Amino acid sequence: MGSPLGVILPHRLRDNIAAFRAVFDEHRLSGEMYYAHKANRSSALVRELAATDAGIDVASLAELQHALGAGFVPHRIMATGPKNEEFLWLCARTGVTVGADSVGEMATLARLVTDWSLPRVRVMARLSGFASSGVRLGSRRSRFGVPAAETSEILDVVEKHPDALDLVGVAFHLDTIGLPEKAAALEGCLGALDECRRRGLRPWSVDIGGGFGVDYLADGVQWERYTSALTEAVLGRRAPLTWNGHGYGLRAEGGHVRGSLSLYPAHRPVSGPAYLDRLLRTLAPELRRPLGTLLLDNMYDLHIEPGRALLDQCGLVLARVLEVRDEADGDTIVRLDCNARDVSLEEHGVLMDPVVVHRTTPAGPGPVGVYLFGNLCLEADLITRRKVFLPSRPRTGDLLAFVNTAGYLMDFSATQALHQPIGRKVALYRDGGAWRWCLDEQYWPVHHRVETT
Ligand SMILES: *Cc1c(COP(=O)(O)O)cnc(C)c1O
Repeated sequence: MGSPLGVILPHRLRDNIAAFRAVFDEHRLSGEMYYAHKANRSSALVRELAATDAGIDVASLAELQHALGAGFVPHRIMATGPKNEEFLWLCARTGVTVGADSVGEMATLARLVTDWSLPRVRVMARLSGFASSGVRLGSRRSRFGVPAAETSEILDVVEKHPDALDLVGVAFHLDTIGLPEKAAALEGCLGALDECRRRGLRPWSVDIGGGFGVDYLADGVQWERYTSALTEAVLGRRAPLTWNGHGYGLRAEGGHVRGSLSLYPAHRPVSGPAYLDRLLRTLAPELRRPLGTLLLDNMYDLHIEPGRALLDQCGLVLARVLEVRDEADGDTIVRLDCNARDVSLEEHGVLMDPVVVHRTTPAGPGPVGVYLFGNLCLEADLITRRKVFLPSRPRTGDLLAFVNTAGYLMDFSATQALHQPIGRKVALYRDGGAWRWCLDEQYWPVHHRVETT
């Protein structure tokens, strides 16, 4: 199948969906889970999901077509992100819920529905830039959504087009793991729903987006040890741990460390469904009551759009070792037949050691510290700029398995730079008692038969 090869485990989605659903049940909340399709291009994942009760969040015309073709009926689809007219038209034509990203987009949608005599479209208004008097949040500006202070402008558009637009709720998506910021946003949405009611509009749902995260590293002590060692290396107090002394956001100035670590917090014990639970138990900064209770008391539906968290343990990337060589300065280089865009750990700041799959006996005892070079003729093409300590020395022809990479780290950024092919993907599934595989695009849920023993 060539190198790299993406391996998808579609069935794992079901456990992740069930874990999120359990949090809804625990808080006695109703609402939908929309998988953020952008986290992986796989068809197998989307089709497997179509066979469950979850929905899908699409952020482009092609993702919408993909979801419709995989078996999602329009009421299980939410369209988010900035949209062009073609995308808006297909949403309206099929009856998908549109999460409008701006006032202009809402107005364009109303015009399309009217011009083409389409049925009334269900819409959500995406808000951003929430202010909270209680906490100083240093809230970063977002490119997306209508500033909360301008909520009335988007509601004006909705009111002006009652035959075209049916407002079902308000939404936000913050690309942060900060609970206080999310709590303020959720409370801000509850305030926006109050404003809707005062105007006689009757939306009943809040969509809190994604960003629940994944716990990539179970051992918190390892993470502490690594980040301390990295700091020491930046200060020159120990041998470099990165290519060309890269500091991942840290730098030395007069014997002190400056900057901040720009890495994904690999050890995240409160992530995925547990993060949702934590958020719902968090007190609203102004109303001082748990956010989950406020949703329940108002009988609002809660919608979520997890991408990364729904794909936890749903796939890995295999790459073939082309060359292992020792440099004069003592560094060992492992050159792989894949590039930094095929396994975009570095772009996303996720540090995970690959698993070595030996095809023959290991070339020597470990551990061995190596740098992983990609196959592009670019100085920057390192799979990770970090020195990776493998348990044993690989040889040419061995494979490295980059595990838990289905969410964003598999094909999100893959390109055909240098005419290098984009890696193929296969789906692995159980059929009766046996493991089987097929091309990702050939997978349909009927292939998976539930074991009856
Ligand atoms: C990217 C995105 C998501 C998913 O985010 P994750 O961090 O993968 O959970 C959800 N909603 C919107 C609008 C997004 O842009």
